[in-house]
Amino acid sequence: PLVDVAVRPTPPSALEAVLDATGRARLHAAVARAAPVFAGQAVWCVNSTARGGGVAELLAALMPLARGAGVDARWLVVRGDGAFFALTKRLHNHLHGAEGDGGGLGPAERDRYAAALAPAAEALAGRVRPGDVVLLHDPQTAGLIPGLAAHGIPVVWRVHVGADRPNAAVRAAWDFLEPFVRHADVCVFSRPAYAWDTIPEARRAVIAPSIDPLSPKNADLDDATVAAILAAAGLADAGAADPPPAFTRADGTPGVVRRRAAVDRARPLGRREPFVLQVSRWDALKDPVGVIEGFAAHVAPACDAHLVYAGPPADGVSDDPEAGAVLEQARACRDRLPTEVRDRVHLAQIPMDDPEENAAVINALQRRAAVVVQKSLAEGFGLTVAEAMWKARPVVASALGGLQDQIEHGRSGLLLDDPRDGAALGAAVLELLGDPARAAAMGRAARERVRHEFLSDRSLVDYLGLLGPLAG
Ligand code: UDP
Repeated sequence: PLVDVAVRPTPPSALEAVLDATGRARLHAAVARAAPVFAGQAVWCVNSTARGGGVAELLAALMPLARGAGVDARWLVVRGDGAFFALTKRLHNHLHGAEGDGGGLGPAERDRYAAALAPAAEALAGRVRPGDVVLLHDPQTAGLIPGLAAHGIPVVWRVHVGADRPNAAVRAAWDFLEPFVRHADVCVFSRPAYAWDTIPEARRAVIAPSIDPLSPKNADLDDATVAAILAAAGLADAGAADPPPAFTRADGTPGVVRRRAAVDRARPLGRREPFVLQVSRWDALKDPVGVIEGFAAHVAPACDAHLVYAGPPADGVSDDPEAGAVLEQARACRDRLPTEVRDRVHLAQIPMDDPEENAAVINALQRRAAVVVQKSLAEGFGLTVAEAMWKARPVVASALGGLQDQIEHGRSGLLLDDPRDGAALGAAVLELLGDPARAAAMGRAARERVRHEFLSDRSLVDYLGLLGPLAG
């Protein structure tokens, strides 16, 4: 019921080159404190997919760093069938304040959910040694908590989704999960507003997510390599003198982009054509249709920019069963556009067979974008936004959820009060496209903000501090 994910250690000192003096001091102190606390103890991290989506991305950064800091960090993925992931996706949508597929969250579903996770809880309890700590992620794993707690194992449950104002849908998910979550020692939320009022304050913690500056997704790429990668992926025209579409893998070995994306579009982007980018899964809460409609009605008529919406292959993320239908909606929306506008809308599915190659392509897209948008209707924390900010891109994002913590409106990006307002999206995008100096200044401020608040060193420091008292 559980699959081990390999974790190769990365020394935290590898981060020093991108940190400022404050960041370096903070990291050294935390690592020095952790060494004796975690000696001989393991931290078991469990989520539901090793690739695709933000949580996998986060763990891929933090697990190696924890290992490198001397913590015996283990990463496990819980298996499930289609019915299980349909239910956990329903919980995910409810926690965002949406009903999702409209299915129930009653006692029958709860019994099935508990039964589906019972074998994994037993398997994990059998591997955990006294003094170890378990760190579970999201609704897909909450059902493991009672089984582990019954063995006296310290459990932290980390939920990455939340809603600014809990509505009936959110409360239905809390009611569903509460009998499991109540047995956790600590519950971790991405921002204070997401903390459940059903959980005693003493057992709540807040840790904001972060991105990995060392990963192929965020590592520096020069302009020529960016162009070569986009050409190799079939997204943009090739140049006569393109260098190899090369990137550096997380383990330091060289990688080359070979796989071509599946793109709904008229023709590849020209070498110098500006584009607006949203990188997101095919998820209704990322509002791909709203992005396309907002671009078509309010950006395209006023300039010659293109729109690229880049996501994984619709069947590429195992715990996301709705992607195919959402991609079809985006396609239908694109098909309805007037030809001239449709020819500037690119719906790209970036292959995921090699996650690091996928990351290099996303990296290149983000670096080459004129403006990055994140028109989400709900967002726990936008990793894509942090990634774009780290690349000094000007970002336009909905003023909701963690996006509000990431962007200081007018300084390190622009926030949109009404996420459904396509005209406001268009106006903000045009403002940045029309004022390159302002866009560049915003990008620089964005990069510094991420350097200080949202790189993996800060998450590592927070987690070591939280888990330390529970270990041993
Ligand atoms: N992502 C990716 N390839 C894609 C689409 C998304 O690697 O085709 C990554 C993206 O770069 C980001 C993560 O998936 O690191 C998405 O995280 P985010 O917090 O933005 O949204 P989530 O998927 O967690 O809702």
